[in-house]
Amino acid sequence: MTDRKLTPRQRMQALMFKAPLMIDCKTFDSFVVDYLDGHLPKPLRFRFETHLRFCPECKAFLNDYKKVIAVTQSQKETHKVEVPHALVEAVLRSIPNET
Ligand SMILES: [Zn+2]
Repeated sequence: MTDRKLTPRQRMQALMFKAPLMIDCKTFDSFVVDYLDGHLPKPLRFRFETHLRFCPECKAFLNDYKKVIAVTQSQKETHKVEVPHALVEAVLRSIPNET
């Protein structure tokens, strides 16, 4: 294997992962939750965002992650408030009237 076989992107990644401030994709993954919660300390946040700028895969991963969170949260709220009106009426109608 020679460097010539690397795609431009792979060459870029090889370069950036040699830089002392860079984190790799694995580290990036482990920071995602803290980053979204706003708990990531500033120096780490900077590395995280730098990685994000150079790595389309992690960028896509973060976007997917955000989507999953959004869906999960909206589902939670849906389950909290949304009992179909028709169901409520059906249940009420099925209760024998005792008067
Ligand atoms: Zn990455």
